[in-house]
Amino acid sequence: MEALGDAGQPRCPPPRRLAAPEPGWVESTDVVVVGSGIAGLTVALNLRESGLHVTVVTKVNIADGSTRWAQGGIAPVLDPIEAPSHPHNVARATFREIRGVPQPAPAPRFSGTPLPEPAPPEHAGERATHVLEEWGLSHDEVAGLVDADVLV
Ligand SMILES: Cc1cc2nc3c(=O)[nH]c(=O)nc-3n(C[C@H](O)[C@H](O)[C@H](O)COP(=O)(O)OP(=O)(O)OC[C@H]3O[C@@H](n4cnc5c(N)ncnc54)[C@H](O)[C@@H]3O)c2cc1C
Repeated sequence: MEALGDAGQPRCPPPRRLAAPEPGWVESTDVVVVGSGIAGLTVALNLRESGLHVTVVTKVNIADGSTRWAQGGIAPVLDPIEAPSHPHNVARATFREIRGVPQPAPAPRFSGTPLPEPAPPEHAGERATHVLEEWGLSHDEVAGLVDADVLV
């Protein structure tokens, strides 16, 4: 059965694949990296240094993308274990260890303005009764939850 459009005309079937122009050039390579931002170029350089032939394919211009706009430089994402021991963070005293837990130091840090020490981390449930009272439960209701072992 043939599908008909609104005007009773046969509907044009959707294309089975996107039509692309015939390639104008051919290149043999070990790796193709798509995109010439910091991610693509970093991968490309590392692969090149390990001896592979790398081809970077990018959209329109090599400097298109977000990387050229990052005026503060690109800050790599470090995990919570790496971050406190990274040399940059150590030099800038970005973290303080309090009660054995690294805490972000207050920011921004000005040379002439003393900043408070970060508060120590709370233990699980440490302020639970206060929090429930802040949320509107009465003192007796909270005490009842503690008595019933709902709140430990
Ligand atoms: C205004 C602005 C300020 C920023 N400031 C900071 C900062 O101070 N510090 C910080 O850490 N980060 C900053 N960022 C974020 C940072 O720029 C991005 O996280 C980072 O550049 C992303 O890098 P990328 O390589 O993943 O992507 P991009 O740099 O965007 O690269 C993507 C690449 O893929 C190409 N591409 C896209 N589509 C196709 C396609 N279909 N085919 C082929 N190629 C394609 C693009 O042309 C481009 O070359 C900022 C971003 C913006 C926009």
